[in-house]
Amino acid sequence: MIDFFNDQKNHNKEFKLSEIDSEVKKTYEKDTGSNEIYTNRTMRHWIKYGDPGLNGILERRKKGTYIFIPGKKFTKKKSPFSDQIKKKVKERDGYKCQWCKKKETTSEILAVDHVIPEDDDGKGVYENGITLCTVCNNRKRNLKTSSFGSNMFKKYLQVSIKNKDVKATKFLKDLLKVYKKHNLS
Ligand SMILES: [Zn+2]
Repeated sequence: MIDFFNDQKNHNKEFKLSEIDSEVKKTYEKDTGSNEIYTNRTMRHWIKYGDPGLNGILERRKKGTYIFIPGKKFTKKKSPFSDQIKKKVKERDGYKCQWCKKKETTSEILAVDHVIPEDDDGKGVYENGITLCTVCNNRKRNLKTSSFGSNMFKKYLQVSIKNKDVKATKFLKDLLKVYKKHNLS
């Protein structure tokens, strides 16, 4: 199964679970004579915990669709959101990306992101969650904070004020002061 994702022709391509499953089973059966391999379970594990044998990271894009991004290193989530909290955050945000306003559909599931980043000790709690689509979430992750722009954090600030989240509000106000000081937009 690792070979499937480390194979260059399968990189940066969206696969349905069924497509991966049948490919993996075919190879596995040829090698071992058995098709008892739990593709779905293994992939869920890799998304959460990574695997030292993988040359990149596995991501879930839409419902039942997966993509392998080579070269990226897996970073363990320090304080992830539970499914229950994700649902509450999305309900509060009206199932809309708080950046581009895209709505959640059955083919595109929205992500819940940390307002205070996990690296700054942000927790996976309701008050610290914000709804983003995968495009905005990836753009934010791939770019340095300064290139993404302060607008993002202005929106986060609105949410935090609305939630009466004192800690996040202070954090974001301080952050926006830094933007202002350095004339970043
Ligand atoms: Zn978006």
